[in-house]
Amino acid sequence: MKKKIAIIGAGIAGLTLANFLKKFTNYEFMVYEKEESLSLEEGYGIQLAANSIKILNEINFEKINNEKIFNPKKLDFYNIKNEKICDLDLSKFNTNESRYTTLQRSILIEFLKEDIYTQYLRFGKKIKEVSELKDKILIKFDDNTNDLVDFVLAADGIFSNTRSFFEKKKNEPKFKKAIAVRVILNSKSDLNISDENISLLLGSNNHIVLYPINKKKELNLVCIMRCKKFDPDNTNQLIKDLVLKQNPKLKNIFDNEIKSWPLYFTPKILPSSNKKVFYIGDAFNGFLPTLAQGAGQSIESAYEIFNLLKETKLDSYTYFELRSKKAKIVRRRSNFNFFTFHFSSSLMQNIRNIFLKFLVKRKTFIEFYLGKVYKS
Ligand SMILES: Cc1cc2nc3c(=O)[nH]c(=O)nc-3n(C[C@H](O)[C@H](O)[C@H](O)COP(=O)(O)OP(=O)(O)OC[C@H]3O[C@@H](n4cnc5c(N)ncnc54)[C@H](O)[C@@H]3O)c2cc1C
Repeated sequence: MKKKIAIIGAGIAGLTLANFLKKFTNYEFMVYEKEESLSLEEGYGIQLAANSIKILNEINFEKINNEKIFNPKKLDFYNIKNEKICDLDLSKFNTNESRYTTLQRSILIEFLKEDIYTQYLRFGKKIKEVSELKDKILIKFDDNTNDLVDFVLAADGIFSNTRSFFEKKKNEPKFKKAIAVRVILNSKSDLNISDENISLLLGSNNHIVLYPINKKKELNLVCIMRCKKFDPDNTNQLIKDLVLKQNPKLKNIFDNEIKSWPLYFTPKILPSSNKKVFYIGDAFNGFLPTLAQGAGQSIESAYEIFNLLKETKLDSYTYFELRSKKAKIVRRRSNFNFFTFHFSSSLMQNIRNIFLKFLVKRKTFIEFYLGKVYKS
């Protein structure tokens, strides 16, 4: 008899796994999403390194409308005054088929939903109760439907509700005492940056990332600011007090509609305590956005589970060993970047910039720092 899988959550992780299961396996599966529809509002931009694109190409990502994505070649570092420090060549990790790619999250979700939407996706489904029956798990949803499955794949994001049904040990996400602000810009306007590359402006207690998200070169801007408490009504004031104080010329870029949200991270990487339950994407571990790897790791974790399922080798130990090894590498680098991107002392900023200039040209360092992350 065919084994049955319930995927909880229709984000990047859940939908990626669903596409691989549909295309390459005989497993029966269903994606259960708590919302009534997929969130396809424009959304923020995401960056996907070549390794994620290589995985997505197996489910035909190369056929996506080329106008709706961008392939930046470099990461340009600036100080908050918009003076260039140095640049890093990202294209060295590219192959002909898989290139560093930036796009809007909604475009990726549209692509991932295409083959899944009608047959394999159910909306308005939130788990009410779970129980184990022989070798299977019975999931009851709060609309009084249920499903009896062999595996539960939790892909319900950093605040994973599925965890609360299966795990005794709490691993609640922590507020990083920082907030993110997002703006979409139609052009680079009077910023002194290249709209072909990713630009990173490093300030005191804040940094700004800008990158094109399509061939029209609309730019996604994310500004991360350290602050003790998240108060959406105070975002404009925080931008004024922190960013514009350091460079008043940046005022124009915050004139468009802004969205803000608090930054959370998962404190510990913990294994699943149930051999039939697996966590992927942010439900496994939520990273800080300072290595731009959240979506990439969601894709990778889904791919790892798929490969183990395909080879009928899926067990908690093997998956956890594989996933936690990679998650630790990404976590260390995301945390280190967060620390060094926000130095408030100008002495520390100057020392960092000297190191940056030196290190971006060192092949062995780049291979160690990024190569390990971009390897799938
Ligand atoms: C400021 C910022 C910038 C970022 N930039 C980047 C970037 O440049 N590159 C990058 O790779 N990543 C980036 N990320 C991170 C990235 O977007 C996430 O890591 C990624 O989207 C996680 O995908 P996911 O599928 O695991 O979870 P989610 O996208 O959170 O999806 C979870 C899904 O599960 C559903 N759900 C939740 N609870 C339940 C439930 N109880 N039952 C059923 N369904 C449920 C939700 O509605 C949702 O559809 C950024 C994040 C932030 C905050």
